[in-house]
Amino acid sequence: MKQLLILSGKGGTGKTTVASAFIKLADARAYADCDVDAPNLHLVTEWATDPTKRDYYGLPVAKLTPELCTHCDLCRQHCRFGAISDGDQYSVDPYGCEGCGVCAYICPAQAIEMVPAVAGELMLYADEEKVFSTAQLRMGSGTSGLLVTEVKKEMKEVAHGIKPAVEVVYDNSKTAIKTAKDGKPAIEAAHDSKTVTNAASDGKPVIEVDYGSEVAIIDGSPGIGCPVIASLSGVDMVLIVAEPSLSGLSDMERIIRTAEGFDTKIAVCTNKYDMNLEISEKIEQFCEERGLPFAGRIPFDPAAVRAVNNAKTIVDVECPSGTAVTDIFKKTMTLLFD
Ligand code: SF4
Ligand code: SF4
Repeated sequence: MKQLLILSGKGGTGKTTVASAFIKLADARAYADCDVDAPNLHLVTEWATDPTKRDYYGLPVAKLTPELCTHCDLCRQHCRFGAISDGDQYSVDPYGCEGCGVCAYICPAQAIEMVPAVAGELMLYADEEKVFSTAQLRMGSGTSGLLVTEVKKEMKEVAHGIKPAVEVVYDNSKTAIKTAKDGKPAIEAAHDSKTVTNAASDGKPVIEVDYGSEVAIIDGSPGIGCPVIASLSGVDMVLIVAEPSLSGLSDMERIIRTAEGFDTKIAVCTNKYDMNLEISEKIEQFCEERGLPFAGRIPFDPAAVRAVNNAKTIVDVECPSGTAVTDIFKKTMTLLFD
């Protein structure tokens, strides 16, 4: 299963809007929300069941036992993060503690120990056909990169156990025999240099490529920080959603430079391109100069805003942005499977 990551250099570009549309268009059987600081993909994907929840433990934090403390002040002096105070008694601020362990190491009275701390919550939606992995970082917690790695790991582990809607077996003559898992009649499909053209042997309607079983779609975090780096690891392709503004152009360049450090394909699309045609042009120019495929433009569309406000994707309603994103999806799939 190939992994497609959708990123943006900054928040508010419409990354999740594109990701949710892609999930719908692909009928994706595996997808994840790696924006652990502000996950919201669950709001536009339909799950009738509650997720399985599990606490996520990040770095341990210091715990001080006042009864053992001899008030020597060493821990406060050596804490580089100012997390230890000396009021009536010495105490550790759990939000200030970075888990370095120096205070526990240095305390002559063994009054400080490092204890596991819940840094977030992992949520896994899964049934026989689909899996959706997401998480929420706890307020003030770091280690978001590790949490993103866990989100992807859970998605992959469950996705491996999901039987595809269509099983594909290729023989030496590049002919694929497709068998629906519900036992419906077998369909023969010609596989021509990675372009799958499907022709039903019994004259029944032609079927499309089963992208849902072939692609996992991952909604990444904005920016270029730790969670983005973690989400980039191991993916097959990154689609960057750019915004035509001065800051959007600069952020797009930064995220492209970041993604270029990984062994992955990169493509770019522009959301709300008509808000600033001049900068939209610069985005496409930049891609051309860099040799990066440009997957398309999405217009500003009030219908898209209404769709998202009604917990719909932009391909659930007839609208210009839905048409544009469908075209971008097709181009992206071609690039991904090329
Ligand atoms: S180093 Fe230990 S004994 Fe000294 S003030 Fe801190 S907790 Fe108390
Ligand atoms: S573990 Fe490190 S950051 Fe936390 S209180 Fe101790 S010295 Fe400070």
